[in-house]
Order: sequence, then C-alpha cells, then structure tokens
Amino acid sequence: MALRNEQYNQILRDYDERRLQSKRELDKRIQEAYEAIPELKGLEDEIISLSAQSGRLALFGDTEALAELNAKTERLVKKQKQLLCAHGFPEDYLDLHYQCEKCKDTGFIGSEKCSCFKQAVADLLYEGSNLKAVLERENFGTFSFKYYSDDYIDETIGLSPLENMRKIVAGCKSFIKNFGKRHDNLLFLGNTGVGKTFLANCIAKELLDRGYTVIYLTAFRLFDILEKYKFGKEEEDSLSAASQFEYILDCDMLIIDDLGTELANSFTTSQLYLIINERLLRQKSTLISTNLSLDNLIANYSERIYSRIISNYSIRRIVGEDIRLLKAMKT
Ligand SMILES: [Zn+2]
Repeated sequence: MALRNEQYNQILRDYDERRLQSKRELDKRIQEAYEAIPELKGLEDEIISLSAQSGRLALFGDTEALAELNAKTERLVKKQKQLLCAHGFPEDYLDLHYQCEKCKDTGFIGSEKCSCFKQAVADLLYEGSNLKAVLERENFGTFSFKYYSDDYIDETIGLSPLENMRKIVAGCKSFIKNFGKRHDNLLFLGNTGVGKTFLANCIAKELLDRGYTVIYLTAFRLFDILEKYKFGKEEEDSLSAASQFEYILDCDMLIIDDLGTELANSFTTSQLYLIINERLLRQKSTLISTNLSLDNLIANYSERIYSRIISNYSIRRIVGEDIRLLKAMKT
C-alpha cells in the first residue's frame, strides 16, 4: 500500500504515544493502589526478586527449582489480586491495558499488520468523514424502535413499519455475527429520514469493534475520490489517490451512503460497476443505501449494476416516517 513515508511514520508515532500513555496510566494506578494497600509494594518486590532468581535458574536448566519458584510467584500474584479485590479495585488494576489487546498497541502481530493498523490507515484516509464521533452517537445502543409505527400496514411490504424494522435489525445483527464467515452484502432502500444511515452506522460500529476495517463514504465523496484517482486531480497534501482507491476495493466493509445523490454520468456508472464487481470477486462486503427505487437504480445506472446487486445483495426496504421531522415536531 503506497502510504507516504511521513504518513506511515505518523501512524507509528501514534502507536508509540498510545503505549506511553498506557504506561503512564499504569504508573498512576500503581501509585494509587500502593497508597491504599501498602502491603502490595512488599509483594511486588518479592515477585521481582523471584523473577530475577528464576532467570538464573533457567540459565542453569534447573527445571525442578524453577517450577517451584514459578508456583511461588503465582501464589504472590494471586495474593495481590485478592488484596486488590478486597479493597474494591478490579483484579487487573496493576496490569497494562492496551487499546488493542491483539497487537499490544504495536500495530503488528509478528510481521503482519494488525487490523487496528489497517483501520488507522483508513482513518487517516477518511479523516473528513469523522466516523468515530458519529458512531459514538449512532449505534445499536442508542437505536430506538419508537420512531417506527405499529398502527398501519405498509402496502408495499405487508408489514407495519415497526414489524418490518424489527426484522431488518435482527437481519443486520445476524449479518454482523456471520461477518467474515459468510460473504454477504446489503442494500438499504427507503425514503429520506427513515433511518438508513443510522442503521449503516450501527453496523459500522459493531464491525470496527470486532477489528474489521470499515470505510464509510457518501456516494458524493466516493465519486469525488474516484475522479481524482482517474484524472489525477489530487491535492498536494492528500494521500495518493491510488492508495485510496486500493483501500476502497480492499477494506473489509465499504459503506456507500446515499447513492443517487451524486451526479450520475457514464463515469460514475462505470466506476460503481468496477467497485461492486471487484469487491464481489474479492469476497469483500459492501453496504449501499439509497433513496432510489429499484426501477430508478436501473434507469440511473445500468442493467449490469442492477443484476450484480439483485443477485448478490440482501435487499432491505425500510419504511416509515421521516424521523428527522418526527424529532423536530416533538421539540
Ligand atoms: Zn492491533
């Protein structure tokens, strides 16, 4: 991946900073715990001295003595944890806590890049989308069914908006559960304001939390990037359009929000087909949300995009009132 050197270094510096920060926080916790439980310090000194002895024993290959020493250390560690719990601290209070336990905030597992490293690159690429802040607000924890009515049956789907939404949310949760095991894609259809973007964000949050790389782009922004890639109109200071393009093709989950709001032309049509098709070949999942009807999808794009979507995407039609309007009327 053609990251520029300084960008690569920036990510590595962030990892250094994260580890330093964890160490500082640990030091603070140690100080606090030692003040509350003075015995801990003595136990810790004993553990350190045992660890030095065990190093020497290992050198001489004295396995029996070594096993005895290790058992002793374990007892001391256990005692520390018991003391912590007895004083109302969590038992792992004196352990280092990492933001990513998988790579211990190094960005690498062996010589392989950790998923958090890939996401760091994705974040760098799409800083503007500000996904993290949005996901703090919009996730399954804050999702509410109360905006979906149970008072009437929507004729197009034969269900009330509430029944329909319950089914869709259950489907999204199983999509997340099977992510990485079973390749699937989603198409959200529905009018403005029915909660398509919110639901897409719920999915993004769950997948990010599970360590997958997720890129969220509005269709408008996506085609803007593609245009820069194609016609070389990139800004001096941005990551090269070629590597952005590669990430769009290769991230675990690509969300294209609000398809149909961009100006569709032969360029956007051919690029959209390329992305949809290439990601299918790579078995990477894509979520597209749109206000367009299926008929309009064919009319605005092409038959071959339509047929790729129909045969490879789970289609979910969200119905209901415009939630933004409902919220506005309440306040
Ligand atoms: Zn990691």
